[in-house]
Amino acid sequence: MTSYQFKIDQVLDKIRETKAEVVGLQFPEGLKVHATELASRIENETGALVLISGDPCYGACDLSDMEMAGIVDLLVHFGHTPLPIDYNVPTLFVEAHYQLGSLEILKRALESLEGKEKIGLVTTTQHLHLLEDAAQFLEEHGKQVLMKEGAGTLKGQVLGCNFSSVQDLPVDAFLYLGSGNFHPLGIKLSTQKPVVIADPYLNQVRDIDEFTDRILRIRFARITKATEAKKFGILISSKKGQCRLDLAKDLKKMIYNEGREAYLILLDEINPPSLLPYMDLDAFIVTACPRIAIDDSKMYKKPLLTPQELEIVLGLREWEDYQMDEIKY
Ligand code: SAH
Repeated sequence: MTSYQFKIDQVLDKIRETKAEVVGLQFPEGLKVHATELASRIENETGALVLISGDPCYGACDLSDMEMAGIVDLLVHFGHTPLPIDYNVPTLFVEAHYQLGSLEILKRALESLEGKEKIGLVTTTQHLHLLEDAAQFLEEHGKQVLMKEGAGTLKGQVLGCNFSSVQDLPVDAFLYLGSGNFHPLGIKLSTQKPVVIADPYLNQVRDIDEFTDRILRIRFARITKATEAKKFGILISSKKGQCRLDLAKDLKKMIYNEGREAYLILLDEINPPSLLPYMDLDAFIVTACPRIAIDDSKMYKKPLLTPQELEIVLGLREWEDYQMDEIKY
């Protein structure tokens, strides 16, 4: 029994409607375990041939449309909402909704929201379908709930690289419904408002402050180390939704203007072995996925920085004005 809802009927209908003979399936890492079970149903019920994308997939920024172009008639991408970019093959985006037993966790979250009247309700793609019920619950308990769309995100939705749906929302606190700390960290740093996490996976209500302090301490250490750097590598990803060439060029100029050197390096996947040959470089700036520098920092010997962190290194931004890197559309 899976706890994810894959909306298989929608997929079968689309395949029949488009008469697709070869269908590509793409899943984020956590959902790949369901790939063969879905492929089997699709092949049996439509007669189409299924091709499962075996490469890692980190988001809608990372579609296998280039690899599948000319091979499949339709690509079905699970688990993410589309970004406003041109994809190279007809693509059906299917949100994989996580089925929660109940919204019981919200009762406990209410205690942590005591004294706060206006609440910004936020979540990630796999829980978007719960927002309406969650908002109703909060309103029944005397709260006023505010949500808005972001630049490239749906109402109440944040991505690890896009917090525009919470910015400038006039609330007293945010309630994040979901798992993990990265998204609430982004909400905290981009709004400076209290953030309460209702985590149905751990069955836990917590605030984000301790985690925020820990991450900021690590970021401060990386920035301090990079202050000595003379030569920088600027990493650009060839993944369509992550490719920020103009930003990379601007950063290169910025570094030269400050009397240091920088080299552009184009990669698909960013990983420690790929950076090993550049022994003469002292630090790397990531213009690809904004999460890499923060999530993966322990894997790298040399500092990996976001573009905003580079500005702090070069003395062009104050540490007090620390901001998350985002890709907004
Ligand atoms: N399963 C995660 C998705 C994380 S996406 C979640 O739902 O929250 C962000 C992470 O994906 C990054 O921290 C990095 O580890 C990885 N990632 C994204 N783009 C990458 C790239 N171009 N190269 C290497 N890793 C990447």
